[in-house]
Amino acid sequence: MTKQKWVLGNWKMNGRLAANQALLSQLSQIQEHEHVAVGVAVPSVYISSALQAAAPTLVGAEDVSLYANDGAYTGEVSAAMLADVGAQFVLIGHSERRQYFAEDEAVLAQKYANAVAAGVLPVLCVGETLAEREAGQAEAVVAKQLNLLQAATLLKQTVLVAYEPVWAIGTGVVASIEQIAQMHAFIQQHVLSLLNNDASIRLLYGGSVNADNCAAIFAVEHVDGALVGGASLKYDSFAQIITAAT
Ligand code: PEP
Repeated sequence: MTKQKWVLGNWKMNGRLAANQALLSQLSQIQEHEHVAVGVAVPSVYISSALQAAAPTLVGAEDVSLYANDGAYTGEVSAAMLADVGAQFVLIGHSERRQYFAEDEAVLAQKYANAVAAGVLPVLCVGETLAEREAGQAEAVVAKQLNLLQAATLLKQTVLVAYEPVWAIGTGVVASIEQIAQMHAFIQQHVLSLLNNDASIRLLYGGSVNADNCAAIFAVEHVDGALVGGASLKYDSFAQIITAAT
């Protein structure tokens, strides 16, 4: 998976079979991009059906269980199960998981490790709240969230990180080009130091990316793509973002 740019959608808790199939079959007609990996993270109940309709679009999960092995964990979906149905990647630590499900660094480190062990590519989501940014804590918060890579990444494969300032997710308020450039440079340097300069890193920006602002964001140094929420639910806007990345 050595594409230069990555455009991943995050459907969150949206979708129904018929609408999913319609959207994915439109996406599948976009010619495979030599330099852009396109994917959608979907509710786990839809992964199998999405995989049938989506190729060459990648299909991933939005979350994975903390528990690695089969057992008495009612309602959970393990990394091994995601791999079994063919999920190609999984979001780890989306801010909505951190906020609504109290996922802390220890939980996320375990989830990340479970994904790696099962061969499902983890996409680590990091980002500060507005209060943290205003307190001058943005880089410190993100650094702390990145630290799990040190223990979890025993792999020699691409490390995917999505920088998603919490205040920009679903708000229509996109981070400024300067804020994105500064944070992506910081993340690049911090991850390289964590992994002893021994990693291929892809950094995605997420937070109110749309068809109008994506080109300027993709032009920023160390921006290797986008994680797209709302705009990934509509073919036109998602297709325009994919085109801007090519
Ligand atoms: C997201 O859910 O990761 C996201 C970035 O959402 P939106 O694009 O809607 O801000």
